[in-house]
Amino acid sequence: MTRAELALRGVASDAPVRRPDGAGPSDDGHVLVDGANAALPLNPHSPYSVRDGKVWLGDEDTGISLTPVRRPKFYDLTTSDGIRYEQIARLHGSDVLATTVVQTCIRYAESDRCRFCTIEESLRSGATVAAKTPAQLAEVAEAAVRLDGVRQMVMTTGTTTGPDRGARTLVRSVRAVLAAVPGLPIQVQCEPPGDLTWIRALHDAGATAIGIHVESLDDEVRRRWMPGKSTVPLAEYEAAWDEAVRVFGPNRVSTYLLVGLGEDPDELVAGAGRLIERGVYPFVVPFRPMSGTLAARDGVGAPRAELLTYVTEGVAAKLRAAGMSGADQKAGCAACGACSVLQAAGG
Ligand code: SF4
Repeated sequence: MTRAELALRGVASDAPVRRPDGAGPSDDGHVLVDGANAALPLNPHSPYSVRDGKVWLGDEDTGISLTPVRRPKFYDLTTSDGIRYEQIARLHGSDVLATTVVQTCIRYAESDRCRFCTIEESLRSGATVAAKTPAQLAEVAEAAVRLDGVRQMVMTTGTTTGPDRGARTLVRSVRAVLAAVPGLPIQVQCEPPGDLTWIRALHDAGATAIGIHVESLDDEVRRRWMPGKSTVPLAEYEAAWDEAVRVFGPNRVSTYLLVGLGEDPDELVAGAGRLIERGVYPFVVPFRPMSGTLAARDGVGAPRAELLTYVTEGVAAKLRAAGMSGADQKAGCAACGACSVLQAAGG
């Protein structure tokens, strides 16, 4: 419960490694909570503070340790054409290199955009560049592994036009990074490619795991929160997950499920159970109203900690019963775990 509270209310503290905006529903300061990756809101109004490496609730020591992730050395480097490495890829948690290979999305018009996402805001703020070339990604990955001990990489993409929905660029990027850093576990993330042969192409390029993120299994919630993305029917997601499990193997495929979009919690847990039966890891993440999102503009708040705890514990129990753990994905968000409290609940 305290871990859930921390994920939602954050800490009144600062962190040298931050991700204030970007693709998808995650943001926040990167720290280690009891030694595990955690992405927490940095919130001066949080009742939780940090002193002497511990989390305090007012004057009460919660017994939880918190260590900020140190600014990585690769952030100080620049490509020969003058782009800072941190504009190409960023450190997530203590050992994950994350990049958005295409920082634009065909669904970013206000009428279509996912209400929790700020993929193009980080572009406008200059924090990143619109497209990362395979050569740039390879250069940054090599440095991040050598200088900062990065152990896995996450590559996501805004959705592009064309039936590959971004997979084509991911294939080229994975190949280039693995040529520079052989054996680095890489997770790729994209919408279900209209042409499912792209899933095999991503695997054959060397990706270890794949995230095909639906965010909600409830069509009414999908239409309300993701007007553009919900035009891809759930049946397409199911076909893509099944093909991905066939190609990548069980527990190498994951999806985000967001808590706090208004879905019935028992249906959410039951839906996660069906994903687990398919071999898909349901990465349960609290919705958090990042600044710059449409949801934050409209005053939508984060869910209550009780709800997050209830859903997380229900899903973690199903994962344990199936023998699925996030760490076994080897690469990607479920392996990192920072944006969820599933790993703290035993998932
Ligand atoms: S869970 Fe995913 S988005 Fe969150 S910090 Fe880890 S790699 Fe990044």
